[in-house]
Amino acid sequence: MYKPRNSCYNTYRISMVSVTGSGKNKRAMAKSIAEHCIDKLMPRLKGKLDINISLIPRLIENESLAGDCERDDESRARPREFSIRVDSTQDLQAMLETVSHEMVHVKQYARGELKDLPSSEHCCKWKGKTVNLNSTHYYDQPWEIEAHGRERGLFVRWVFTGE
Ligand SMILES: [Zn+2]
Repeated sequence: MYKPRNSCYNTYRISMVSVTGSGKNKRAMAKSIAEHCIDKLMPRLKGKLDINISLIPRLIENESLAGDCERDDESRARPREFSIRVDSTQDLQAMLETVSHEMVHVKQYARGELKDLPSSEHCCKWKGKTVNLNSTHYYDQPWEIEAHGRERGLFVRWVFTGE
C-alpha cells in the first residue's frame, strides 16, 4: 500500500503545534495556549493534529480580521492539519483569545461538526445542516457563536489556573 511520506512522518511525530513569526515570547505563549485548547476541547485528538500558527503583524489593519483557520488536508472528512493566522500586533490578551477562538474552529473541523461544502462557496454544513453564509450574519453563524463563546474562558483558565 502506498503511503505518502507525510502521513508516515505524522504517525510518530510528537510536536503538533508549531508557531512562526513575531517574537520568542509570543510564539511560546501561542503554542502553550493552543496546546491548552487541545486538552480542553479535543483531548482524544492529542498527538493526532498538525497545527501551524503564523503570527502576522497588522492582519486586522490589512485584511480586517484578527485571525483565521484553514484546513490543509481538505480532502479528509475529518481533517487533522491546519494553518492558523493570528494578528500579532493586537494586545497580548486579544492575540491569545484569537488563538483560542481559532482552536475552537480546529475542533469543529476535526470532529466533523463544521464542513466546507466544495460545491458552494456560500454554504457550510454545521452538524449536518446546511447554513447559507449570505443569509446568516457572522454573529449568527453557529460555529462563530461557539468560538466567541469559548475564547474568553479558554484564555482565563490558561492564565489563572492552568485548568
Ligand atoms: Zn471565527
